[in-house]
Amino acid sequence: MSEIPYKIYLSENEIPTAWYNVRADMKNKPAPLLNPGTGEPLKAEDLYPIFCEELSKQEMNNDDQWIDIPGEIVDFYKMYRPSPLVRAYCLEKELDTPAHIYYKFEGNNTSGSHKLNSAIAQAYYAKKQGLKGVTTETGAGQWGTALSMATAYFGLDCQVYMVKVSYEQKPFRREVMRTYGATVTPSPSMSTNVGRKINEEFPGTNGSLGCAISEAVEAATSQEGYRYVLGSVLSQVLLHQSVIGLEAKAALDKYGIKADTIIGCAGGGSNLGGLISPFVGQMLRGEADYDIIAVEPASCPSLTRGSYVYDFCDTGRVCPLAKMYTLGSNFMPAPNHAGGLRYHGMSSIVSQLYDDKLIRATSVKQTDVFAAAEKFARVEGILPAPESSHAIKVAIDEALKCKETGEAKNIVFGLTGTGYFDLVAYQKYNDGIMDDYIPTDEEIAKSLAQCPKI
Ligand SMILES: *Cc1c(COP(=O)(O)O)cnc(C)c1O
Repeated sequence: MSEIPYKIYLSENEIPTAWYNVRADMKNKPAPLLNPGTGEPLKAEDLYPIFCEELSKQEMNNDDQWIDIPGEIVDFYKMYRPSPLVRAYCLEKELDTPAHIYYKFEGNNTSGSHKLNSAIAQAYYAKKQGLKGVTTETGAGQWGTALSMATAYFGLDCQVYMVKVSYEQKPFRREVMRTYGATVTPSPSMSTNVGRKINEEFPGTNGSLGCAISEAVEAATSQEGYRYVLGSVLSQVLLHQSVIGLEAKAALDKYGIKADTIIGCAGGGSNLGGLISPFVGQMLRGEADYDIIAVEPASCPSLTRGSYVYDFCDTGRVCPLAKMYTLGSNFMPAPNHAGGLRYHGMSSIVSQLYDDKLIRATSVKQTDVFAAAEKFARVEGILPAPESSHAIKVAIDEALKCKETGEAKNIVFGLTGTGYFDLVAYQKYNDGIMDDYIPTDEEIAKSLAQCPKI
């Protein structure tokens, strides 16, 4: 077989020591966040009551190409990084394709996803600022798990508002968070004003991510020594996730491999943004060219069917306004949607890169995603997260195209995590009771009509 190993590992001292900030190389910068009350662009100081100061500065930093990773964060990264870049020899054989397929596997830690890369950074800056703790929301629970691991490491309190339906249906994730010392509250709760109000208005509600965000923000701003943290969408999160792309690029460079196609799943855009940042940087500087594909669910298609406008980041409308590809902050994917990636908007960095046609996007149906997940699991041995499987689906499609054209393209995709906590979704697929709901143009137009007029 070829001299390229199944797993390309970097050594510990090849872990990046600086995050790459792609905004510094973007000619068209992402649009600024706006104050939801006044419509004025926000400054870093305006965010201090909600976010840690250092993270607020990173959020606004369009200029510094490199930002040093503090040594304590690098040390934590050493426990589970560098993550392997795997050559999918067995999948290539199964597909009988001339393409070379590689995946960057981020599921090798207890949170089971890439989210720990940013959680540890956000917990570090909260600790450094002398805070007592942080608050956040979680839907399916990957972010809450990653954050509780990070806060346990730094001895911070962690309060997680977990969407009520997930709290009840995903007791195992909840117990992992509690094992790491987090307090997990089903949302809407009776412990915040907004929670009590929603419970009064909609008795027996199952909760939503939008509502949990509003509760977590209220909890942060009403307790001394607390700030709110978020696991995706924000530019600071994409910055931290650049470790994925920097390592992937270093591993490829080590073997003289030039990627042709780079694929990532896109929910809020953080793993995709992190994976592609160094490669997009080369494109922006005119050094190289890549075909970059963002993959989203057909049931929550913000890039492919949304509008590029200012919108609310949360249903409760307490967070700053962001210009992004969005389906409208009231958009809810159909209840049968099991594949994750259910945020209504998209990172403003990814949105701008897409609008500038540096990357393209496609959407895939969930039954096709689970079929791809199963094919992958059976030959590559990893049970992939449903979110990650969106990227698998398109990597397989691209490899099959190569079979027709005879091209030996190098296809790289992000395998963001494992699917051990998603077995109810796999069960639905295995029982043949999973279906595909694709929103109509009317539904999307109705929800987009509620975006603020700016
Ligand atoms: C959260 C999550 C995603 C989607 O989030 P992004 O911010 O779009 O990266 C993808 N895969 C896994 C495993 C996740 O936990």
